[in-house]
Amino acid sequence: MATDTEVKTKERSPVVVVMGHVDHGKTSLLDYIRKTNITAKEAGGITQSVGAYEIMHNAKRITFIDTPGHEAFSKMRSRGARVADLAVLVVAADDGVKPQTKEAIAILKETKTPFVVAINKIDKNNSDIERVKNELLQAEVLLEGYGGGVSFQQVSAKTGEGVNDLLDHLLLAAEVENLTYDPAAPAQGIIIEAKLDRRRGNELMVILKNGVLRRGNEIGTPSVAGKVRTLENFLGETIDELSPSSPALILGFDKLPAVGEEFIVGGFGDMAPLLAKPVPKTREVKKDERGKKTVRFILKADVQGSLEALEDIISAMSDPDVEVQVMSARVGDVTDGDVKSAITTGAKILAFRVRVEKAAQVLGQANAVEVIHGEIIYELIKVVEEEIKNIKDPKPTGILDVLAVFNQKSSKQLIGGKVAEGILRTKGVFQIERGLQIVGTGRIVSLEQNKREVTQVEAGKECGLFFDSPTKIEVGDRLLAKPIA
Ligand code: GDP
Repeated sequence: MATDTEVKTKERSPVVVVMGHVDHGKTSLLDYIRKTNITAKEAGGITQSVGAYEIMHNAKRITFIDTPGHEAFSKMRSRGARVADLAVLVVAADDGVKPQTKEAIAILKETKTPFVVAINKIDKNNSDIERVKNELLQAEVLLEGYGGGVSFQQVSAKTGEGVNDLLDHLLLAAEVENLTYDPAAPAQGIIIEAKLDRRRGNELMVILKNGVLRRGNEIGTPSVAGKVRTLENFLGETIDELSPSSPALILGFDKLPAVGEEFIVGGFGDMAPLLAKPVPKTREVKKDERGKKTVRFILKADVQGSLEALEDIISAMSDPDVEVQVMSARVGDVTDGDVKSAITTGAKILAFRVRVEKAAQVLGQANAVEVIHGEIIYELIKVVEEEIKNIKDPKPTGILDVLAVFNQKSSKQLIGGKVAEGILRTKGVFQIERGLQIVGTGRIVSLEQNKREVTQVEAGKECGLFFDSPTKIEVGDRLLAKPIA
């Protein structure tokens, strides 16, 4: 039996975002679902988009965020709270998995957003569903019936085939998530659009995630506060109260908040300045966590939405061994200022759809600052993943292929070989690799090239060396110089 002190939660409907590669049919699918589930009479009330709409399917509600693709990234996550509970990953049956599909998969995995796959355009002659499934498996999306739990549905956003089944899958996925809200909690949600209407003033489009929002409530985001003077549902009808996960339009604010900000009845009070999204221009170095290996990045991107998506994902990539730090994140081309920060902090620069200014190029080259370009977020995430892997298990700075063994009377063995990669230097410890196994370690006592003693030999060159190791070197072994991790 429930007592008065217990929180009585109620079921909440899912908020869904649609993602996938450009032209795979995200907009068409959102349009088809809207058109077939909202009656013409109701739709007559829609004077403008509030950035989301709600449908009924099998007597259950589903909210769709009406912005497909990249922009949805920034709407999907705000500080601490997630707008979308579920996602639809659209893949065109005639085109398969493409770069932005992979990008979407990476984002869905990083943000731990459950998703359903819609294999779209099945009405087309050249659709190849098996190929799409295989490509999804290669992209590590484990489909139901193929060893995984991700459900999928073949659809046509043109003819509508399969769309009802897709909605069934979404409701099933929502059931698994067990989404609830507390009607007694202060109403709380996320701003998905904010704009100035010349006639009506500032308009905030929001999605409610908890509590019940009422007309007259005083609400605040970390940056602005105001009173809900007018509350409208997504059909443009005036309402007195709203429950989760419905979208709504709020009038009554003097200032516009930022998209993605969270709002709560009563506002954030003293916490507001701490929570407010800092203006990107002034965001700088975050503190080092002692004792943990760190990898640092400076992020530059063409637009705020991509920058935030990139920062959110990369900041969340730290693991127990490696701390990933975003030193700064700003919109705009890579400047010499960015390169200077990279030199002092040892950071690498990730440049998403931006150029590198001339002065920055010159300074960067002179100081061996790495600037990594990317046209899709997924590419840059891969770079960060590689970097983390490399820190855990550093790449050798030099590799020698052993071609001959001349003398093995003592632990000091005389061998000959060719530098396969990097530079072979006399310093440091070397690992001895045989097949795919490390069979021992050792040090270089002396190194000779063309019968002259040297301290280093470059890739492609042959050399002779005395190598001190208890392990007997064999022809075919590789000596790997590893940086001290
Ligand atoms: P988005 O970029 O992912 O939002 O893709 P759109 O919805 O704009 O669709 C891109 C193109 O594909 C448009 O010309 C659509 O008419 C077409 N399209 C979308 N879905 C289907 C489908 O199921 N079948 C066919 N034949 N064409 C489709």
